[in-house]
Order: sequence, then C-alpha cells, then structure tokens
Amino acid sequence: SSESKDVKGFKGHDMLAPFTAGSQTTDTHPLVIEKSEGSYVYDTNGRKYLDSLAGLWCTALGGNEPRLVDAANKQLTTLPFYHSFWNRTTRPSLDLATVLLQTFTARKMGKVFFTNSGSEANDTQVKLVWYYNNALGRPEKKKFIARNKSYHGSTLIAASLSGLPALHKNFDLPVPFVLHTDCPHYWRYHLPGETEEDFATRLANNLEEMILKEGPETIAAFIAEPVMGAGGVIPPPATYFEKVQAVVKKYDILFIADEVICAFGRLGTMFGCDKYNIKPDLVSLAKALSSGYMPIGAVLVSPEISDVIHSQSSFSHGFTYSGHPVSCAVALETLKIYKERNIIEQIQSLSPKFQDGIKAFSNSPIVGEIRGTGLIIGTEFVDNKSPNDLFPSEWGVGTIFGQECEKRGMLVRVAGDNIMMCPPFIITPEEIDQLISTYGEALTATEERVAA
Ligand code: PLP
Repeated sequence: SSESKDVKGFKGHDMLAPFTAGSQTTDTHPLVIEKSEGSYVYDTNGRKYLDSLAGLWCTALGGNEPRLVDAANKQLTTLPFYHSFWNRTTRPSLDLATVLLQTFTARKMGKVFFTNSGSEANDTQVKLVWYYNNALGRPEKKKFIARNKSYHGSTLIAASLSGLPALHKNFDLPVPFVLHTDCPHYWRYHLPGETEEDFATRLANNLEEMILKEGPETIAAFIAEPVMGAGGVIPPPATYFEKVQAVVKKYDILFIADEVICAFGRLGTMFGCDKYNIKPDLVSLAKALSSGYMPIGAVLVSPEISDVIHSQSSFSHGFTYSGHPVSCAVALETLKIYKERNIIEQIQSLSPKFQDGIKAFSNSPIVGEIRGTGLIIGTEFVDNKSPNDLFPSEWGVGTIFGQECEKRGMLVRVAGDNIMMCPPFIITPEEIDQLISTYGEALTATEERVAA
C-alpha cells in the first residue's frame, strides 16, 4: 500500500533547493504556505499546521507580530533605502549596531558588519580574518578549521565551511583552505566506556594534532555553532568548548561563533556563547535577529580586530543592502520585544516541558537519540537503538515521520533520518502539548510503517 515503508517517489534530497519552474505544481507538492498566525502557518487549502521549525529556524516571534509590521511600514514610509558606504549611513543601522554591541556580553565586541544573510555573514568572516592577518604581516595564516556536520550556509565559502558532504559534492568544494575536524556528537562517535569529558579531550587533542600537522602559522580561525543545528541538533559534550578554546588560543587562532540559530534565546540564554562560556573573536548572526521578517545578518567583530581593520586604508567589502534601514528597523523592534517580554526567562520556563515531553519518546524502537536544549531538539532514527545501524536510506524513515506529522497538522524539518524542531519563542504551553502529542502519534505511525 501507499502506507508501506517503501516511499514511492522518495528521492532522498536532504537539501531541496529553492529551484522552481513557477506555478505548475502537483496536488501535494510543493506545499504552498499562504498565511501565518502565532505558531501556525496555513496552506492555500486553508489547512493549519503547527510550525515546529519557526519557518527555517527564524520566526521567533511567530507569524503575525503587528509591531514588526508597523516598524517595517514606518521605515518604508520615511526612508525605504539608503546605503551605508563612504561615511554615509542610516539611523536604524547605527541604532541596531549599538543595541547588538550592548546585548552581546560574553566579551566586549567593537564593531558590527551588516549582511543580508547568515551565509554572507560567514563569507564576511573569512574576509575580515584574512584582511586582519594581512594587516598584521602574516598573510600565510589563511586556513579555516570547521567541523564535520556543521552548517554555515550555501555560498561558496559558507558551503565550504559547512561539514555536510551534500553541500560539497558536485561543486568542487570545500575550497582548499578549509579543513574539517571531528563532529562533537557524543552518542554517535564516542568510544566504548568513554565519558563525555574524555570524548571532548580526544576531540581537542585531534584538533591540536591537525593544527600542528598543518603548521599553526597557517591556521587563521576555527568556526563553530554553539549547538550544531542543521547537522542534526548536536549540543556539545561536557567540557568541549573549554578544551577547544584552550587549543585555539594556544596557537593564536581566532574563534568564530556561528550563532545564526543559537542567538537571542534559542538555548535559554541570550547567546550560545553565554551558555557554553565561549569568548569568541567574531560572531555571526541572522535569522531570529529580525524574527525572519526581513533578511538581515550581522558579524560582531572584537575591538582587537576592528581596531586593526580600522587602521588600514579601506576594507573593500560590503553589500548594497548591508545595514538596510527596513531590515534594521525590524531587527531593532524584534530585539526590543525580546527584552520587554523577558524572552529568556520565558524560554527557560517553557524548555523543560518541551525537552522532557519529546525526550520521553527516547525508548521508541526506531529512535537512536533525542537531544536538545532550550527550544531546539533533534531526533535521530536508527535501527536496534545503535548509532551504527542506519535504516536503508530508500526506506525514507525520516520522510515517513515528516509525512505523518504533516498529515496531523505539524511541519518538522527532515534531513535524512534526522528530525529537527525549533519552535517560535512565543509558543504557548498548550501548543507545546499539541506538538508533543502530534510527535507521539506520528512516531507510533512511523514505527508501524517501518515494521510493516
Ligand atoms: N549558519 C548557521 C548556523 C545556519 O543554520 C544557517 C542557516 O540555516 C546559516 C549559517 C546560513 O544562513 P542563511 O541561510 O541566512 O544564509
């Protein structure tokens, strides 16, 4: 039957590109979303779905926050656009930079560079670091170390930094100056009897070995998401960031925190850096910065780096829409709302219900691990409860679970046999109950289809 585990037509695409021929669609594909309201979105048939991924990890304030619409309208009416080049800029971009520098307190930051996206933020990181090292007379310090299973974006450099093979295959990536070290996925990669701390020590030692083999004088920066997102929601094992930071510091290697998913409360702290005591030199932001209502990204730059860059003639980099006034106005209002509504405390109080409710399904025979923190959680499906027993990819177990959720009015992120959920910050306790019961029903249905 069509309910069998042999999903007809399943192509196994982890990354369905936004690549379309227009309005000629089939009955079910793609699902056309027309309207959003709070934690829900509606398709063109008026069907309502709980949006457990907050759009694409971004609509933190949900689907219809009128204050963000007002902020955009007001800015569109007074000044829809002016650029931020050659000593010209706009008030919203200056104000947003001020607020961001005040909000990030894990360490003092010096300047903000605005982009339109997370990918552009990470590309900008590479240019900032190279420019800085050239200015310091060490142009050979050029290589970047990222981690397997990381996601840093889709442009050529951000895709290179990413540690997902699908982003490299057929694109001649990664570029040669990008290296990848171990993924800190304890459940999947720890050795028999190895504690989280021992695992973290082994990974830090491997990182140091890579640096010594390449030559520390050639390694410019290390980039990491505090909790890995698109790679499957992978929180770091205990002591990991402490140990990794000690290694990079020892060899004068910059630390870039990719906070594109983690920032602004997602983990129950303002930034992932606060949660894991990370003292980065550079930070990438996007997504919840504007609650996804307008495209915007940003790089926070330490005073040490921004001072060196400022002392040079010109950092020739930037985008027409860097510091776009409408995006900045919406981001300013977003950050104001997070503060007024005590979003961090709110997430801290919602998190146990969300995390415990989903983790209660850990004993399902098809679940390998459920992991997460704050308002982000991932499920990994495997056979026999073993990280080594993957289901045949043609069974499409993750896809089946996604279909079972969709049938029951909930959208989740499916990537192979990984399921990710990252609901809006404004999700209510009742909506969390609905999310958990839908997840449970979809899981039971998936178990049955897998066993069939
Ligand atoms: N960095 C991280 C951690 C992300 O999760 C993403 C997007 O999912 C990006 C960077 C890329 O951001 P964008 O899609 O805005 O280019």
